[in-house]
Amino acid sequence: MKKTRDRIILFRKAGVLALAVLLALGAACRGRREPTVPAELILQNGAVYTLNAAQPWAEAAALAGGKIVFVGPDSKVKKYRGEKTRVIDLAGKMLLPGFQDSHIHLISGGMELEQCNLNDLQTKEEVLARIRAYAAEHPEKEWIVGGGWALPIFPQANPSKEELDAIVSDRPVFLSAADGHSAWVNSRALELAGVTAKTPDPKKGRIERKAGTGEPSGTLREAASGIVSRLIPEPSDAEYLSGLRGAQSLANRSGITSIIEASADDKLLETYAALDRSGGLTLRVLASMYVDPDKGLGQVGGLVQKRDQYRGRYLKATAAKIFIDGVIESHTAALLEPYLDRPGDRGEPLLEAAEYNDLAVALDKAGFQIHVHAIGDRAVRMTLDAMEMAALANGPRDARHHICHLELIDAADIPRFPALGVVANFQALWAYADTYITELTEPILGPERSSRLYPIGSVVRSGGLYAGGSDWSVSSLNPLEAIQVAVTRRGPSEPPGPAWLPGELVDLPTAVAAYTKSGAFLSFEEKTRGSIEPGKAADLIVLDRNLFAIPANEIHQVKVVLTVLEGRIIYPD
Ligand SMILES: [Zn+2]
Repeated sequence: MKKTRDRIILFRKAGVLALAVLLALGAACRGRREPTVPAELILQNGAVYTLNAAQPWAEAAALAGGKIVFVGPDSKVKKYRGEKTRVIDLAGKMLLPGFQDSHIHLISGGMELEQCNLNDLQTKEEVLARIRAYAAEHPEKEWIVGGGWALPIFPQANPSKEELDAIVSDRPVFLSAADGHSAWVNSRALELAGVTAKTPDPKKGRIERKAGTGEPSGTLREAASGIVSRLIPEPSDAEYLSGLRGAQSLANRSGITSIIEASADDKLLETYAALDRSGGLTLRVLASMYVDPDKGLGQVGGLVQKRDQYRGRYLKATAAKIFIDGVIESHTAALLEPYLDRPGDRGEPLLEAAEYNDLAVALDKAGFQIHVHAIGDRAVRMTLDAMEMAALANGPRDARHHICHLELIDAADIPRFPALGVVANFQALWAYADTYITELTEPILGPERSSRLYPIGSVVRSGGLYAGGSDWSVSSLNPLEAIQVAVTRRGPSEPPGPAWLPGELVDLPTAVAAYTKSGAFLSFEEKTRGSIEPGKAADLIVLDRNLFAIPANEIHQVKVVLTVLEGRIIYPD
């Protein structure tokens, strides 16, 4: 508008000569917008869902220099085609911005993949065969470590050391149960740990024993696992790195091009940095640095130092992670009202309100984005209070603090998300009536509280921003499964039917945005990525089907066929 007025004034002043000059300048400007360099990659004939409100759908995109240079109809993308341009015919497939997983334990999950993985095995024979095969494949490993065995496979959930000894007797074996609350060990492991018939049970733990003799039988409950697990050697740098490589390739295959690492210690920061320095990192990482609840304000300076130190091409460590409670299933989530089966017990937060507030104020003052694990309604309220306190103490700023998990939120606290600018980081894949809900949660919360679990729809309706994450390796990292559950509130493999708590459903655009545009916002990168627009980074994925053209219960079957990070094809590699 302003330019046009200036041109008119100039035209009146200087007459025809000025007009000629302006026309020439205009032509030159338009000329500069023409591609002087042809696109490196053109994706055309597709269903391009841009997440740009001004141009929601398109057919084609052209990429050059790591950026998107064109989004629009097939008829107009042709001019970006040069001799060396690679052209991909999408044949109706869907083009989306790359997914962001806003809560993932990438490296530890990757390291678990390389351990003896017993998840999803149905019989004792399968479990024993897997352990045997793993031990044979890994003669170099001093310890056989892994987990995932299902409790019901063994009588009284009590597997024996003899069953393991028959497979591995020369090396110690430590295998945690799928729920993480029991461990199965062999005789060599018990011997190294010095556990005998005379060893007393530790506080908050139990050593399962043979009837009569008191001899340890091979199963350790809760804290008793620690007697053995503390002897497991620290993984080597190479094991960390290989865990990261394995996990990032799994993530790239699932269309993930950006993550928020949920809890990073020094070892994890160093591993991300090493891969980033070598050019091997194929996703953008915002690391949330672990805050030790016992170290208080004294640790903030060290976090600032690490934030400066770990800043690379794709890595930044600009967030601080606080755990404020546990989980409902084991009565460790902090609730406003007691658990039904434990009168008076409403779970203990991991920090007192006063120290939590002080910590939040200090982290906020130091410029950190605060990322909090909060599951119970009291933990959520305490967190919102702490964030409000930080804004009062330091003045409001564009902090983008966020809370993950959010299983139970008191209705009064829901409007506080938009009011305080706190982002709701939900794990939508948990929001359906599986046995964790029906057997372990509803009975101890009662019907009223159980009717308000994972209130994604309520937060969105109140104007709060919803970003999505997996919490992998706790649950699948496939964003399409979580997107499906967010719009159906049913298990990913369940047929169509009534939604669990239908008031908390969100629509497909909201669920897709949670894994793209809203994720980019949460990572402070919404100006440079998260939607398909000229000038933004070419972080893109191709899905074999258009999510908007299929029944919602089929979304989890959609396959990612291409993943592009900054213009570079990273999957298939
Ligand atoms: Zn987590």
